[in-house]
Amino acid sequence: MLLLCLESSCDETAAAVVRDGREVLSNVIASQVDVHARYGGVVPELASRKHLEAMPVVIEDALERAGLSIEAIEGVAVTRGPGLVGALLVALATGKAIAFARGIPWVGVHHIEGHALAIQLEQPVEYPFVSLIVSGGHTHLYLVEGVGRYRILGRTLDDASGEAYDKVAKLLGLGYPGGAIVDRLAAEGDPEAIVFPRPLLHQDNLDFSFSGIKTAVLNYVKRQEGEIGGQHLKDLAAGFQRAAVEVLTAKSLRALERTGLRRLVVAGGVACNRGLRQSLQKAAQAGGFEVYFPSPLLCTDNAAMLAVAADAYLERGGCSSLDLNALAGWPLDRAGDEFALCSP
Ligand code: ATP
Ligand code: MG
Ligand code: FE
Repeated sequence: MLLLCLESSCDETAAAVVRDGREVLSNVIASQVDVHARYGGVVPELASRKHLEAMPVVIEDALERAGLSIEAIEGVAVTRGPGLVGALLVALATGKAIAFARGIPWVGVHHIEGHALAIQLEQPVEYPFVSLIVSGGHTHLYLVEGVGRYRILGRTLDDASGEAYDKVAKLLGLGYPGGAIVDRLAAEGDPEAIVFPRPLLHQDNLDFSFSGIKTAVLNYVKRQEGEIGGQHLKDLAAGFQRAAVEVLTAKSLRALERTGLRRLVVAGGVACNRGLRQSLQKAAQAGGFEVYFPSPLLCTDNAAMLAVAADAYLERGGCSSLDLNALAGWPLDRAGDEFALCSP
């Protein structure tokens, strides 16, 4: 089935064409980073307006790159939530309108379900597996039993890992979003020069806490006289990254142990992080399990990732009704609940 996929949950406007939930024919992403950078974070009202402008452009681009006209599209997949509600509504209303006008089914997909299954577009991973979601809004461990079957194993009790990266970057004056910048600096720093706490590392659970690490960085910066730069800045980035990565690695290993599974899939923007990739790859070699990372374009927000779940729901005869609304908050374990049986 040929699906047009649309995403606008945060500050990326994205459209993709995917065949059979596997073959990506196009994957177009228009980022609003420049619009929000000067505010140091996403401004919801601005995001909605920019999505409205960009959505028709990315759709046309996605169709053109796929070499298809809209008539060839057989179904529509849209991010229904979670996210900024005004932003979500842009893809939702557009997707419904296309589906209604063309008389084709549409499916409202959970954004994190998209992240968690994105790997299937590149490298089929057998279910069940443990999913480590590390993004701007989430740091969660899930047991993924199949499409639509997710069980939460653990989660952050405060900030998400991506949020911590962005806050650390901001307080160091590195710009927004700063995860990738901190990652780059960390590669040239000494991770043992400045040691930050590893919250909840030794607690026998699968939960995370990142606000403490961020506060420790803030306190460290306040104690310094003058600006931090050069090697000192690189060491600080490396010290922060080491603390974050160590906790993410340890809890992922514990999740594999608890579930008895040997497959770990990492997803979300922070899955681009080179320190995290190295650490988990090393642990996988030592521990005899498999670890999978999507390529960077499929880790951060994109529309193609929605196709994996949407295609499976449609194949089962499910689809969403046209009166379905966006959901700002939506627990992932409810993602597969609401599909009506569609008439063929
Ligand atoms: P969510 O998916 O939870 O709704 P989101 O969609 O905003 O949140 P993503 O697009 O998946 O999040 O990821 C963006 C986050 O990833 C940002 O916080 C960004 O700083 C972080 N990030 C991107 N690249 C890296 C990197 N190399 N190292 C660390 N963090 C990174
Ligand atoms: Mg984003
Ligand atoms: Fe995301």
